[in-house]
Amino acid sequence: MRKSVVAIVGRPNVGKSTIFNRLVGERISIVEDTPGVTRDRIYADAEWLNHSFNLIDTGGIDLSDEPLLVQVREQAEVAINEADVIIFLVNGRDGITGADEEVAKLLFKSNKPVILAVNKVDNFEMHELLYEFYSLGMGQPFPISGTHGLGLGDMLDEVVKHFPTDREDDLDEERIYFSLIGRPNVGKSSLVNAMLGEERVIVSDMAGTTKDAIDTSFSRDDWDFTIIDTAGMRKRGKIYENTEKYSQLRALKAIERSSVVLVVIDADTGIIEQDKKIAGYAHEAGKAIVIVVNKWDTVEKEQDSMKKFEQEVRKHFQFLSYAPVVFLSAMTKKRIHTLLPEVIRAAENHSKRVQTNLLNEVIEDSLAINPAPSIKGQKLKILYATQVSIKPPTFVVFVNDPTLMHFTYERFLENRIREAFGFDGTPIKIFARRRN
Ligand code: GDP
Ligand code: GDP
Repeated sequence: MRKSVVAIVGRPNVGKSTIFNRLVGERISIVEDTPGVTRDRIYADAEWLNHSFNLIDTGGIDLSDEPLLVQVREQAEVAINEADVIIFLVNGRDGITGADEEVAKLLFKSNKPVILAVNKVDNFEMHELLYEFYSLGMGQPFPISGTHGLGLGDMLDEVVKHFPTDREDDLDEERIYFSLIGRPNVGKSSLVNAMLGEERVIVSDMAGTTKDAIDTSFSRDDWDFTIIDTAGMRKRGKIYENTEKYSQLRALKAIERSSVVLVVIDADTGIIEQDKKIAGYAHEAGKAIVIVVNKWDTVEKEQDSMKKFEQEVRKHFQFLSYAPVVFLSAMTKKRIHTLLPEVIRAAENHSKRVQTNLLNEVIEDSLAINPAPSIKGQKLKILYATQVSIKPPTFVVFVNDPTLMHFTYERFLENRIREAFGFDGTPIKIFARRRN
């Protein structure tokens, strides 16, 4: 089941970024006494009791060039489109302002669950500030203090009560969910259109999980696919849609719901730092990955041009050594038929289970070829290994002492497992655990 998404909205300076940092539990951005401090991250994992969810700080969608009302309206719209539950933050010390009323009106119309939180209520004596906020029509206001960390638990108890339990977008085990990520203009939308335009593809339905996201489902041969929409794939010209933070947020959300991520790069302009950063998110999230080199039509072909370009890709994306590289042109459709087979292979490997006895044979053979090293006279003993989960395939190796498992030896075991079972397209994880 996908994680619930919670968004914080409210006019500037009410404390959104302070609360975000508190709930995420790390100090991501430095909050200073200046309004509109820059935020590094606006989308992060958070946890409360046994719920883990994603949190959005809509204040980080930088619209500071816009008039205040436009800014708060657009940010409220992001929350309405992207979140399951909205925390509407106001400043207890200021009372209700016109901008608060504006946000309230939009949220009210959205029919999304809204929790009204009154911030900067730094001590109990200040609780009387709350009463005024009942008139916003958002139900009971929760007094909180971001700087002192007060009241957050009661507020979160209320937030998690509203998490959806029965979702229509729960993932279908048989279906391959994938997304296309990459910087603007690499050809993501062109590629989607090219894929959907293929003769043997049957587009069945379009269903959105949020008001703005349009997922596209299609079938090809015996396989069912869903392309998860990301920002920029359907540009509708809203102000926030053109901001970098918003496309980042949408890419992260799409990655989370995908099993396979297509990292699209542009053969014409080459690989830049931004490409790596985006691919890094997908890798860290443990998703299967296919690297797509688009606009291959723009490259002057000479002998080995594909091999040379692949070397370039490998050099830049060393952390993606498992990902296949596909060369194609969304424009001319040349080699476009090579893409889906790689997506299928990556998806299959991402959810592959290997038999415990075969796995342990591989481990024993590996130990015979390259015995486990000793650290400070202590010898690593591997007792046995087992695969504990899929998506990505995750292995636990039981050993006498996990601190003796050097990462180079872990890498060696990973390579042996890959050689034996073929995990192309997917990261795999190995954990060493103590067993006496
Ligand atoms: P944002 O623009 O809504 O993200 O607001 P910030 O998080 O940047 O906070 C704006 C200002 O309010 C900063 O100076 C914070 O230190 C201050 N602030 C945030 N939460 C509290 C609070 O609970 N109590 C008090 N007294 N100040 C707060
Ligand atoms: P997105 O922002 O990643 O969705 O990129 P678009 O699909 O909007 O494409 C950006 C530009 O690149 C458009 O002008 C496309 O016509 C062009 N483009 C896309 N794919 C190809 C390709 O394979 N070859 C060439 N030459 N141009 C392409």
